[in-house]
Amino acid sequence: MNDVWILAEHNNGVIKEVSYELLSWGRSLADELDKNLVALLLSPHTDSFELETLIAMGADAVLYVESEEFRYVECLTYSHVLEQLVKEEKPQIFLASATTTGRTIMPYLAVKINAGLTADCTGLAIEKESGLLLQTRPAIGGNIMATIKSPHHKPQMATVRPKSKKPLERDNSRIGEIKKVDITTSFEFSKAEILHVEELLDEDSAIEEAALVVSGGKGLKKKDNFQLIHQLAHLLDAKVGASREAVDRGWIGYSHQVGLSGKTISPELYMAVGISGAVQHLAGIKTSSHIISINSDKNEPIIQISDVALVGDLFMIIEELKKQLTQRRDS
Ligand code: FAD
Repeated sequence: MNDVWILAEHNNGVIKEVSYELLSWGRSLADELDKNLVALLLSPHTDSFELETLIAMGADAVLYVESEEFRYVECLTYSHVLEQLVKEEKPQIFLASATTTGRTIMPYLAVKINAGLTADCTGLAIEKESGLLLQTRPAIGGNIMATIKSPHHKPQMATVRPKSKKPLERDNSRIGEIKKVDITTSFEFSKAEILHVEELLDEDSAIEEAALVVSGGKGLKKKDNFQLIHQLAHLLDAKVGASREAVDRGWIGYSHQVGLSGKTISPELYMAVGISGAVQHLAGIKTSSHIISINSDKNEPIIQISDVALVGDLFMIIEELKKQLTQRRDS
């Protein structure tokens, strides 16, 4: 009762890295409140190593529910089961990652249980006097940081931006309870029937969890030139992002869009090529560890927030970078 919960994400039973980042957030909150940190896992099958890893990475307990219904994330099924668990166990805080999964399920759940939800947080803390969760996130196009409290409803729910905290070191000496929960529900209520699932072959678009992202913007001038971004990303072993201008022009798919109406990312290194740095774009990259920009205009906003700015013609700079990276790779 009143524990801190995190929703662990998995890929066919294998725990995703974002779940360990969430455990790191959850650990500091649970310690501050002197409560248990519980990892919740809904999975088609569970591997004891994966469950034990959740404990080794910071959880005090793992609750898992096994069902073939959890092979794919289906909103109604997931939120129905989570609703039951939350009502029975009454956590005081419930965190999920601000991934497609977390952003889809948590709003559904929040409505069902009449709780507040702060999306896409970059900071979490406990208010000393009240013990309430302080949920900090960029607001108004990323121009201010807003800190939000949900004093009237429990659990206090938040989704947390991937890469906003490093996972804890694995500690195999940690001991915790691993408990299977039997859910006595039929899944017949679900209005969706999954007929066919296609793997997303465009692996480059998985930019939320990437350590390195190279993005291209309108400065590339035409679709064919966007290949330069793919080539540079390939040499750097990075994923490919884009500004909305590049996406709207059909140079690359929407799943690559970075910014307010696209994805928010926090890579170790973000490289913006031919991107001006409009507030809506910056809203998606402000928590990147390092930013490098390539732009011909030294007065653009992206230059002001860059750790390193290469001012000049992007076509010449990319050619030189490609040459040097290829030489380094081949030497
Ligand atoms: P521009 O602003 O046109 O910048 C092009 C840049 O290329 C310039 O800085 C220029 O100096 C540089 N350049 C040109 N030629 C060269 C060259 N040869 N060498 C080097 N540099 C060169 N935008 C997003 O990106 N993501 C969002 O999610 C998003 N959401 C939005 C939501 C709303 C509600 C609104 C109103 C807007 C949103 N936008 C978003 C759009 C945003 O306001 C900008 O229009 C967009 O980010 C600009 O894209 P850009 O930087 O590629 O283009």
